Amino acid sequence: MVKETIRVYARVKPLGRQQQAGIYSVDDNEKSLSSLEIIVPRDLADGFVNNKRESYKFKFQKIFDQEAKQDVVFDSIAKPVAECVLAGYNGTIFAYGQTGSGKTFTITGGAERYSDRGIIPRTLSYIFDQLQKDSSKVYTTHVSYLEIYNECGYDLLDPRHEASGLEDLPKVTIMEDPDQNIHLKNLSLQQATNEEEALNLLFLGDTNRMIAETPMNQASTRSHCIFTIHISSKEPGSATVQHSKLHLVDLAGSERVAKTGVGGHLLTEAKYINLSLHYLEQVIIALAEKKRSHIPYRNSMMTSVLRDSLGGNCLTTMIATLSIDKRNIDESIATCRFAQRVALIKNEAVLNEEIDPRLMIVQLKKEIQELKDELALVTGKQRTSELSQEELLRLDELLETFLEDNDPDSTLDVGADMRKIKYCFIHVKQLMNHSKISDKKLLSQYIPEEKETNKQTGEELKKLKELLQQRDNEINILVNMLKKEKKKAQDALFQLNAASACSTVFEQSPSINLEESQSPSSCFSLKEAKDFSSSVHRLPFLSRKTGGKMSLGCQEAFEVFKQDHADSITIEDNKQLLKQKFAEAKCLGEKLNEVRIKINHLKGEITQRHVQRAALAVSSPSEELNTLDPVEEKLRTQIEEEKKSYKAMFNRVKGLKIEIEHLQLLIKKVKMKLQKDFEVWWSEETINLQEKPEMVSSPNTMTVYPQFIKSSQHLSTNSFSDTTRVSPNEDPAGKNNSITSSNPTLKTRTPPSSSTSIPLTGDSQADADILAFIKARQNILQKKGLGNK
Ligand code: ADP
Ligand code: MG
Repeated sequence: MVKETIRVYARVKPLGRQQQAGIYSVDDNEKSLSSLEIIVPRDLADGFVNNKRESYKFKFQKIFDQEAKQDVVFDSIAKPVAECVLAGYNGTIFAYGQTGSGKTFTITGGAERYSDRGIIPRTLSYIFDQLQKDSSKVYTTHVSYLEIYNECGYDLLDPRHEASGLEDLPKVTIMEDPDQNIHLKNLSLQQATNEEEALNLLFLGDTNRMIAETPMNQASTRSHCIFTIHISSKEPGSATVQHSKLHLVDLAGSERVAKTGVGGHLLTEAKYINLSLHYLEQVIIALAEKKRSHIPYRNSMMTSVLRDSLGGNCLTTMIATLSIDKRNIDESIATCRFAQRVALIKNEAVLNEEIDPRLMIVQLKKEIQELKDELALVTGKQRTSELSQEELLRLDELLETFLEDNDPDSTLDVGADMRKIKYCFIHVKQLMNHSKISDKKLLSQYIPEEKETNKQTGEELKKLKELLQQRDNEINILVNMLKKEKKKAQDALFQLNAASACSTVFEQSPSINLEESQSPSSCFSLKEAKDFSSSVHRLPFLSRKTGGKMSLGCQEAFEVFKQDHADSITIEDNKQLLKQKFAEAKCLGEKLNEVRIKINHLKGEITQRHVQRAALAVSSPSEELNTLDPVEEKLRTQIEEEKKSYKAMFNRVKGLKIEIEHLQLLIKKVKMKLQKDFEVWWSEETINLQEKPEMVSSPNTMTVYPQFIKSSQHLSTNSFSDTTRVSPNEDPAGKNNSITSSNPTLKTRTPPSSSTSIPLTGDSQADADILAFIKARQNILQKKGLGNK
């Protein structure tokens, strides 16, 4: 990498015959920088004649005065740059100065004499000369010639065009790649294999340049011309290719227009006629200021094209051409001032090298073959890329021994053969992968097991849940049944009451008051109740169509009969039993519920245990999850026990249900029997009454019917149970009228009406009732020891 400032030279054009020389002096110093002093005459300063003498001093790399010949200029300025370009660096030489100051003369040269050849032909000549001399490298040379006029680029070397004006030339545009490298689209690169070809191309370009110029466009003064020599080089056999470019630039005239003419402060108020030079100056100023990060290259095409030449990867040289006649002092000073700024710019030129991949492959292949040959020579063996079968077997053995050896210091020695070493590595890798896979397999085997356990637990849980649901449903059904039965009992009672009321036989009897027995239970369905009613209706005393009229006698008689009947005790006993069973069922239901809750709780504990163990396994992986958890086992045992007790209880409830149903049926049966017995007895009594009417002497005299007593003697002498009488008014009278008419037995059993010796009413029904009442009373009194009083 070469880092240096732009080299700035000055060249003073020889004065014409009629030109009045300006006052300047050149201090040429071979060792250090030369200086140019320009003296502004008094009569020019401020436009007035004054005594103040102004002088300006400028430093240059070298100053070529009027007598300097083209060859000297080339040797001093262009030759070093051309050498760098040949070495692979980029180079730029540009001429800057007002129109007519000798820029074209310096860059291209004069047309008259061979010796007037400028930098371009001389450089071309020099380069091709050097290329010919250097056989160590393969060079490829191209040239391009670009004219920029009015911000438009024109290709001066396009051979397809016969240009008669600038517009006929192919337009060149600027392209920028992502790396911000500038590419010129449409600018042809013409290959020049030798000096002659290159000079022909230069001639073509110059011709085009000249033709394109019209008095209108003043192309020669207003345009920039860039002749570029592109050189590629590589050493034979090397994959590295070097690319370098040399720009030889003839800029537009730098003359300015003074805003205020020559008046005012000299030179400072002037501005460039050519805008792109103004932008060039801005770029130069920006580059000269070290702190500036943004350089406005893009403002003009010329600065864009010369971006690398100005502040980039380039060795750049500037030639300030000066025409120091008296009238051009100001422009000369301006050119020198510009040059001073340019001189501050530091460029970093680097070698433009890149590797050609195709060459690289060829080179490497060759190198490999050479190494192989060398190796074969040293080992005495011709090596192939593959190992033999024997060698592979031997390696397998060695590797196995090495892997099985527990000695940490054991080594694997396969010799200095990369093929064998590689084989061993591959083998070890395969073994590792294999063990990884088997680990995974083991893991995946273990996971399904765990999954299986989870699945089992889940299934068990599901089963238990279903069982619980089933039990719940059963309990609900039972409870509903009980409720229904209770309601049925109530309905039956209601029906019974209605029937009683209707038949005027019964006042509500405690013996069939299921409400009182708390029978959630009741043993009567609606049908049963109806049957019961109908059986009651079969009684002869129910045949009366008395409406709601009560027969107290019959009622009392039934009460007495019932109390004395042995079956009454059975009913009472069964009712007590039923009560017990219901209580037991209720208790069991509650217990079942408790057990269910307990089982759920235990299950919750098991789940919690699982979570705890999982967390433990994460925090300390050493903990084995496989081992049985004693806590969980205990919980499971508890669940099993609870389930057992649940099952037992449920079976008990089931048994109770059957028992209860049985008891209810029994009670119903006994009641039916009781009623039937009463019916029979009542009928008999009625017949007896009709046959022995004399036994009744007066309404106030009670005659105990021997048959009745006889019949009651076989009955239990147990004391009467307390009776609760329901007021007849509470009976919905007449509700069951229709039922009575349906019973054909009623008529046949109707006692005769007019065969009594007691003061009867004459109404057979009323009389029968009276008789019944008397009999009942007698019986009661007898029972209480008050008989015949
Ligand atoms: P520019 O290109 O700067 O406008 P030119 O190179 O065209 O100026 O020069 C103008 C004229 O001066 C040309 O005729 C050219 O031959 C002549 N000239 C310029 N410099 C020299 C020089 N060093 N020696 C002899 N003639 C020169
Ligand atoms: Mg010119």
